[in-house]
Amino acid sequence: MRTPLIAGNWKMNGDLALIDEFADALGAAALPQGVQVALALPFPYLSAARERLPATVLLGAQTLNPAESGAFTGEVAGSMLKDVGMTLVLVGHSERRSLYGEDDAAVLARVNAALASGLTPVLCIGEALEEREAGESERVVLGQLEAVFSELSAEARARLVVAYEPVWAIGTGRTASPEQAQAMHAAIRARLGEWSASLADAMQLLYGGSMKAANAAELLAQPDIDGGLVGGASLQVDEFLAICQSAG
Ligand code: PEP
Repeated sequence: MRTPLIAGNWKMNGDLALIDEFADALGAAALPQGVQVALALPFPYLSAARERLPATVLLGAQTLNPAESGAFTGEVAGSMLKDVGMTLVLVGHSERRSLYGEDDAAVLARVNAALASGLTPVLCIGEALEEREAGESERVVLGQLEAVFSELSAEARARLVVAYEPVWAIGTGRTASPEQAQAMHAAIRARLGEWSASLADAMQLLYGGSMKAANAAELLAQPDIDGGLVGGASLQVDEFLAICQSAG
């Protein structure tokens, strides 16, 4: 059995007051047994969040630089994230791919950097609307998966989490139907199975794209959907907690 994981992505939102609100609510709330809860926060808040949030809440950043250190003004290394208590990092989020030009090679370099620092990379993959309409969804998504997984050792592959996030569903209020999401998750798991049956069996596959309390239960009930990567709805503590409850 795979452990469900609900990961919030605050993007460039939030402040210390919101971290305190989450600390109060997540501390008091009985999070469902056996559900992993994580938050990916803006860099300036990572240390404060680690101090204030319960240790059971996994924390991470939304990107990292592939280099270990050096003259990369404005950038943050994986070892720095590890140093301040982070356990995971988003890699290849569609906003990084489209707004900051991160191609498959850049994504692979970041996955390797995260692994080298002992972080769990949450690899985000997903097709654009035009690609879906052209019937290209599976080719695009599996291509993004292969660009990373085919370059990793078996041991490294087992350390990733994969998030399927159709670009047309991110921040749009338009969610993939449970059937659409399940079909792509099943295709991703089948492709993973070509590398290794145990890899496919163990891999946590998250769905992301306008997940909210009202649609989470139906998505999370799908056999190949093991959790969610939640953007907008992770900024409201009640909404986020309700999604976590749906995963229990
Ligand atoms: C995301 O940013 O990963 C995301 C899924 O956003 P939203 O839930 O707002 O669509």
